[in-house]
Amino acid sequence: KVINKILKAHEEGRPYWSFEYFPPKTQQGVQNLYDRMERMYRLGPEFIDVTWNAGGTSSQLTSEIVATAQSVYGLETVMHLTCTNMPKEKIDKALKDAKECGCQNILALRGDPPRGQEHWEACENGFSHAIDLVRYIRQQYGDYFGIAVAGYCEGHVDNPDKDDDLYRLKEKVDAGADFIITQVFYDVDLFLKWVKKCRAIGISCPIIPGILPIQNYSGFNRIITLSKTIVPQFVLEELEPIKDDDAAVKEYGIKLATDMIRKMFADGIKGYHFYTMNLERSTRIILETLEFVPPVENVKPLPWCPSLSAKRK
Ligand code: FAD
Repeated sequence: KVINKILKAHEEGRPYWSFEYFPPKTQQGVQNLYDRMERMYRLGPEFIDVTWNAGGTSSQLTSEIVATAQSVYGLETVMHLTCTNMPKEKIDKALKDAKECGCQNILALRGDPPRGQEHWEACENGFSHAIDLVRYIRQQYGDYFGIAVAGYCEGHVDNPDKDDDLYRLKEKVDAGADFIITQVFYDVDLFLKWVKKCRAIGISCPIIPGILPIQNYSGFNRIITLSKTIVPQFVLEELEPIKDDDAAVKEYGIKLATDMIRKMFADGIKGYHFYTMNLERSTRIILETLEFVPPVENVKPLPWCPSLSAKRK
């Protein structure tokens, strides 16, 4: 289980990291994703995770990718699972499929509203909040699954009361969640303060910050506008003169994420969750620059770990 690996890393006082992927739209895209997962496996993620499409349109594909990653490649995999348009029967099927393929880790989420819908609504015979899903998984499966939940250092957009939002997070942990992965953020001071607040109200489980290296200016702008992410003034100022130069923005994204991790590491944060956007280069360079991994050309496949493609054949 992921939680055991994370606790071990904490015990050993070493850094660890994980990679998030999303289900691609085409069959070729899925193939490319498997190839990328294989290459990125050399970067030693403690676990990987696969997102769940709000509304469930590509949820079968999530289950398939999870099954391949977990049972064919042997990657410790976390399956995201949301409540959006998921009556209990569908939740049951998703959990059963996950268990059958050997996946022991669920990121339990409420989910975003489906595309085109502004507010989130519970479906008939479904759940209203992530905590309901956490409770249900514990009730149905006991300790079989390790459970992660989402945390928001800027507060979740639907809850204007930040203290209440933090209390809701504590409730999820008290209901049985093992660790927390955060939403994207760019203000490290704010994150570190929020972690201290979590600790002060008794949230003691591992909290893993979500890192999204900026890949291009328009994508970055879309994400921060949609999720109303706070961006420090210096980042906006440094991006402004290079915003039309895609290569320069990408390099800046690498430098910014590397600096953010250095600052968090100095403050005792050990684990980092990369929103890879199914891309490899930025994450790899960040890990190499931090010297968390040696330059990748020097990394030999582990002798006890046959090439993933060999396993796939
Ligand atoms: P909840 O914990 O249910 O919280 C939602 C809101 O309700 C918050 O404002 C909270 O304060 C409030 N609240 C919580 N409990 C209660 C209660 N009992 N009573 C009243 N109010 C309450 N979305 C996807 O669709 N697919 C994904 O794969 C996905 N992956 C994600 C991965 C990470 C690491 C993160 C951080 C987010 C991810 N999301 C994903 C987005 C997430 O689904 C949305 O942010 C969603 O709006 C909230 O989900 P949640 O699990 O935090 O909800």
